[in-house]
Amino acid sequence: MACYSLDDTRIRELEQRFLRYARIDTQSDEAAASVPSTEKQWDLLRLLQQELQALGAMDVMLTDYGCLFATAPATIANEGAKTVAFLAHVDTAPAFNGAHVMPIVHRQYDGKPLVLPDDPTQVLTIENDPLLKDKLGEDIITASGATLLGADDKSGIAVIMTLVDYLLSHPEIPHGAVRLCFTVDEEIGKGVTHLDLGTLAADVAYTLDGGEAGEVTYETFSGDRAVVKIKGVSTHTGTAKGKMVNALNLAAKLIDRLPQNSATPETTEGREGFIHVYRAHGSAAEAEVHFILRDFELEGLRAHGQRVCEAAQQLQREEPRATITCTITPQYRNMRYWLEKDMLPVELAMQAIEQCGLRPIIRPIRGGTDGAGLTERGLPTPNLFTGMQNSHGPLEWISVQDMVKSVQVCLELVQLWAEGVH
Ligand SMILES: [Zn+2]
Repeated sequence: MACYSLDDTRIRELEQRFLRYARIDTQSDEAAASVPSTEKQWDLLRLLQQELQALGAMDVMLTDYGCLFATAPATIANEGAKTVAFLAHVDTAPAFNGAHVMPIVHRQYDGKPLVLPDDPTQVLTIENDPLLKDKLGEDIITASGATLLGADDKSGIAVIMTLVDYLLSHPEIPHGAVRLCFTVDEEIGKGVTHLDLGTLAADVAYTLDGGEAGEVTYETFSGDRAVVKIKGVSTHTGTAKGKMVNALNLAAKLIDRLPQNSATPETTEGREGFIHVYRAHGSAAEAEVHFILRDFELEGLRAHGQRVCEAAQQLQREEPRATITCTITPQYRNMRYWLEKDMLPVELAMQAIEQCGLRPIIRPIRGGTDGAGLTERGLPTPNLFTGMQNSHGPLEWISVQDMVKSVQVCLELVQLWAEGVH
């Protein structure tokens, strides 16, 4: 079985899809209670729904919660053929400006610094970004300097749409039913909350939400959230002496007592976990401090939670007039705990990657994916590369040729799952 190649027309279609999706603002909002968290995510969902119908995909369905499903029907009658699902998320990260994205295609990248026009201090260079060295002659897409690009995860969507288009127009490729599912609110950790596995009806799934070409991931962080609530004693400032207990001062103390030069995102890498304070708000009367806790091992995760709650309890002992609570909420779990029991989804992905002439890179994700939640619920869902780099910031970039490789790998993968020997 040789890796299928995409002709120029298909490559340009893939690129145009990506540019079209990237220009649509789909930023999610952690503070919103609605589903999806932002109305604008419907803009892309509805466009994708129309495009899928125009391509002739089957079972196109958009749920009230913003899950968009479709099928490329099986081309073989082999009962052993598994149903494979591919997932990507429509939302972009709230971490950086995601409105008015102006993607720029840098054709046949020549290795010179890429200066982003809307903010010339944003420059991509081979020195700072060694992966660019392998991209000479390729077409690199960036944003214009003022926004993120949103390759995370519009590249995944463009890859899956191109895959489905290819499968629908090549019925001679042997495969079982291929399902696709686009989700909302992945970046705020709610991507698969409303995804019904019965509706998805897949035996195995892959998220297209990874980086370097060749990358396949079956390990994510395990993540919890910690919220410390502080209720002080509020009085008139003129007569506060000996009475007022300022919640903001207590919040500052709490943050100060937690690690800042170690065990934070900015001081850890590889398999190290962290405590990340990411939001604090309130008044002298009441304040809240929000943390995310991350670790590859549950033991480490528990220790991070304990550290936050012990600091809160210590503060409470020192200031009994305040009321301080610490609540830990589980978010997601390392998918390795489930996948290591049956590595076939990962092994076939690696085989597909090799068949397309790439070297498989097994890399744990220092974050979560929609796949972590799905795997925990019983649907094995490793993550595959699309080529995206520097996600969530102004220097985000992606190579069109890497997205092409991602499509090729998925084409191999659906055939491997169709062989029915598994
Ligand atoms: Zn993503």
